[in-house]
Amino acid sequence: MEIKPNPCCHYCEDKNHVCKHGKSRSGMVRYLCKACNRSFQTTYIYQGNEADIHRLIQKLLAEGKSNVDIAGQLGIKLNVISRHICMLANESER
Ligand SMILES: [Zn+2]
Repeated sequence: MEIKPNPCCHYCEDKNHVCKHGKSRSGMVRYLCKACNRSFQTTYIYQGNEADIHRLIQKLLAEGKSNVDIAGQLGIKLNVISRHICMLANESER
């Protein structure tokens, strides 16, 4: 069994109140954030072009760009950037 650290919440980015919350119909593990009481699944970012955005953000961060620069360059909202940064942090903890 693979043990992963709990991810941070996609909505409020809280890390300390996130727990497993069963599975979705497609078999993905779902998480529930007790801080904002919302559930989410971590794998959804790898569907569609979000995986590309995720990689682009990772690349631009590595180049020393700020969140605001990246948001402007990619034309996406700042809170989306911070969500991806949050997920990158989760990935590096593995
Ligand atoms: Zn939350």
